[in-house]
Amino acid sequence: MTATFRTIGIMSFGASYRLARLAAVLAAALLAGLAQTSAQTPSTAVAGVDAALLEDMVIGSRVLADFGVLDGFGHVSARHPTNPTHFLMARSLAPALVTADDIMEFDLDGNAVDARGRTVFLERFIHGEIYKARPDVMSVVHTHSPGVIPFSVTKVPLRAMFHNPSFLGVGVPVWDIRKDFGDTDMLVSNPVLGKSLAQTLGDKPVVLMRGHGDVAVGPSVKMAVFRAYYTDVNAKLQSQAIALGGEVTYLTPGEGEKGDKINFIVIDRIWNLWRMRILPTLAK
Ligand SMILES: [Zn+2]
Repeated sequence: MTATFRTIGIMSFGASYRLARLAAVLAAALLAGLAQTSAQTPSTAVAGVDAALLEDMVIGSRVLADFGVLDGFGHVSARHPTNPTHFLMARSLAPALVTADDIMEFDLDGNAVDARGRTVFLERFIHGEIYKARPDVMSVVHTHSPGVIPFSVTKVPLRAMFHNPSFLGVGVPVWDIRKDFGDTDMLVSNPVLGKSLAQTLGDKPVVLMRGHGDVAVGPSVKMAVFRAYYTDVNAKLQSQAIALGGEVTYLTPGEGEKGDKINFIVIDRIWNLWRMRILPTLAK
């Protein structure tokens, strides 16, 4: 009886000990997992940058994804507000998933200031080289917009069709990566390619990339996103107008110049609408 009790007692102690060890191992594994998750998705936004700017980048990324201008690829960046030799851009993830916590800081050569193990976009050189070449540019948007692809691979120039994309009235250059670099994977994956693209953009608001997409720039995130969106809308409408047959009447350069001034006046109206559309997706 006593022996049986002792045996049960010893077994109970052994079971408890094993249970405690198992709990400790599980706790350690859980903590390690959390640490790994934390390293992959840091929970701190960029130090010293106004939350409103980060929010604009998030709204811009998500609304362009909503409209199909961006899909799983493409990106929205902003020049650093207090250090013009740096820019802000999300870590590598789909634009529809970007949060303020995903925004990273880079120098204009595309080096991350504090990567902390995060993966970065291969085509970040588009942004850095344009910020180098264009001191007036405060935001860059790169898309693989379906609407613009036909105009990047044909001789038909993309031209302003109506008042919102009036910024296209100054002309839309097309950059062909093959011209100077031969057969490539089509991606702007180094500073030399980025510089070539920036040179073709010149002083324009939009440049098409042959067989790839486009880049829209602006003096603010709101304006660059607006331009990326309306470039896609314009391209689709222009394709429709051409398909109808007959002569198409485009905006004159003068109409384009006057129309674009109105865009700066009304930008907040459409931005507030887009913001209201996106904010609920951030609350989830
Ligand atoms: Zn691209």
